[in-house]
Amino acid sequence: MVKKISILGSTGSIGRQALEVIEALGDKFEILALTGGSNVDLLNEQIKKFRPKYAYSSDLKAINGAQTLSLEEICANKENDIILVAVSGKIGLKPTITAINSGIDIALANKETLVMAGDIVMPLAKKSGVNIIPVDSEHCAIHQCIKDISQVDKLIITASGGPFLRKSIEEMKNASVEQALAHPRWHMGKKITVDSATLMNKGLEVIEAHHLFGMDYSRIEVVVHPQSIVHSAIEYVDGSVIAQLGIPSMHIPIQYAITYPERFEGIKSRSFSFSEIARLDFEKPDWDKFKALKLAYYAGEAGGSLPVCLNAANEEAVFAFLCGKIKLFDIINIVEEIMNKHKIVKNLDIDEVFKLDNEIRIKSRELITKISL
Ligand code: NDP
Ligand code: MG
Repeated sequence: MVKKISILGSTGSIGRQALEVIEALGDKFEILALTGGSNVDLLNEQIKKFRPKYAYSSDLKAINGAQTLSLEEICANKENDIILVAVSGKIGLKPTITAINSGIDIALANKETLVMAGDIVMPLAKKSGVNIIPVDSEHCAIHQCIKDISQVDKLIITASGGPFLRKSIEEMKNASVEQALAHPRWHMGKKITVDSATLMNKGLEVIEAHHLFGMDYSRIEVVVHPQSIVHSAIEYVDGSVIAQLGIPSMHIPIQYAITYPERFEGIKSRSFSFSEIARLDFEKPDWDKFKALKLAYYAGEAGGSLPVCLNAANEEAVFAFLCGKIKLFDIINIVEEIMNKHKIVKNLDIDEVFKLDNEIRIKSRELITKISL
């Protein structure tokens, strides 16, 4: 059966790789919609090549060759069999909820959706009978390892450690934007690359895993694994550990998520060889250097509105860092200060999540202005 797919964020790192996967899969997919942000030239090239019926760009420039619909209109369209949510940041949340309400399965790359509103999104998906298949490589690995979640004792999430793994705290404090963006293993969008440098990305992934697999935070462990070959693992109650391995390539988890439960050869670029890999190292994270990880566990465990704060403050601070307004460590100091001042509210509905998200962004920007003066 030909699957109809829409890709939100087709001009981004995940979106572009998804199109490569789809191209390699031949006639398995029909692209219904493609969407981009400011890179309208690339979006127009993609439209010319893949001929989607619908498209959207947050930029005001013209889109050629497809009917313009909003992200939510695209997600409400029941012609879709699956939607790949690969926009970055908070803009993923609303369209994801719309897709769930329309009964459409989701391949979810946008982890911020679950960090902000996992308590709303996951029960809604369950109620609507919608599958949420993770694209994030760690969660995709865990998804592949789990047969029966009730028999799983622990999730083990691996982290490459990012560009500052072997650098001192001092070096990290004075890091330039270029240094923070020089990830040793993965080529990704700027926001997630900075998050990977502070290990906030791993913190967001811990919260994402909690929601996707319904696992207590005390049973989610992070281990640093610089080679990024073991993409994550689970430990069953009887002590048996199952891990998923592979060369570090997002093509594999993207393809897994959009073709689930089937598997195809697709874009597989080369075979995995244990003897070529030769060694795999694992170590505990440095919790003092990577305080973001501590903050994310704390926010996740406290629950309610605190993960919304963590996410909004982090997104604003990362953006300020990328614009050269603050230093790398300021990101974490800002997140911590915002979290410390916040009074936790439980059981937010989706409107309250967006309202709080806005308030926290305003407070974070004020703090950023103070620091950058
Ligand atoms: P990118 O920044 O590369 O891509 C983001 C996409 O969103 C682009 O298509 C961009 O358009 C679009 N976009 C930006 N702003 C808007 C807007 N206001 N309205 C509509 N679209 C917009 O990010 P990544 O692909 O790296 O990441 C996407 C998501 O996937 C993130 O949540 C990330 O955490 C997650 N993820 C990414 C991984 C990776 O390897 N890259 C791995 C695991 C998870 P444009 O470029 O045209 O401006
Ligand atoms: Mg990941």
